[in-house]
Amino acid sequence: MEQQNQMRNGEAPLISIKMRAAQGGPHERGGRHISGEERIVAEDGVEACLRDMLERARTHQRGRADFMNLKLQLLYPAEALYRPMLDFSECEAHTVREGRETARRELLAAGVSERAAQAGIEAIAALPDSMRGAMILDCESGERLDRLGCRGIRVSNMDVADPDAFRQALAARHLCGDHVREALVLASKVAGGDGVVAELCWSDDPQYVVGYVGSPRNGYRRIPVLKEKGCGIGGRVFYVRPGTDLDALREYYEEKLVFITAGAEGYVTPKN
Ligand code: AMP
Repeated sequence: MEQQNQMRNGEAPLISIKMRAAQGGPHERGGRHISGEERIVAEDGVEACLRDMLERARTHQRGRADFMNLKLQLLYPAEALYRPMLDFSECEAHTVREGRETARRELLAAGVSERAAQAGIEAIAALPDSMRGAMILDCESGERLDRLGCRGIRVSNMDVADPDAFRQALAARHLCGDHVREALVLASKVAGGDGVVAELCWSDDPQYVVGYVGSPRNGYRRIPVLKEKGCGIGGRVFYVRPGTDLDALREYYEEKLVFITAGAEGYVTPKN
């Protein structure tokens, strides 16, 4: 289709590209999740983006994928929301034990109860294998609220508003690499959801032991170690206030197009 025909109100569409790769067949038929990624690019960036994604699925630390699903979809920027990048800061921890204790303290500081903080850490630590998405927990009782099993809730349709500004904002904090960029974009969209108090995450990449607690109140708090090296299981927990509209939150996470801004405004506006 001609680009001209796809314009809406004079506005050129963007292309959302989503990739998920698994080993042993498709995810929905029991394949083991290897990697997933999402980018939103202009039409002339599609080929380069697809090449990067193929390379990533072929060389992932979790193993070589034998199944890959690619989804391309037109999106219109006029329908987008903008959210600021969470402020970034670092915690100190040298062992898994210290890291998890730090995560517990950070969750409390963000507004999660002691009981719920412990429940979230234990829920990720007890996973038999990585989920594709995140669990939603009540920030007071620690009860799991979503009924999405090992799929969990998938945050999607997000990217940086301005790649150069984002790169500069990261470089100013001496940060680089795909992991940090992707985690910051995701954490910033997550923290911008109505009713959200905090997020806990550690990676499923066996070589990447770093994790974080993200929150509207305290921003992105990187924790250097939350699991043992070589462990290929990670996960995410989103904590919400009791009474949060879960259907609306799921729609915001899975459907709503959100761009993360990262200029001099790289702070978070407290919501609580
Ligand atoms: P990663 O940081 O990519 O290593 O992912 C760590 C864990 O976070 C995964 O095992 C999933 O459980 C979860 N996760 C990854 N991507 C998403 C996403 N887009 N939305 C929600 N949860 C995710």
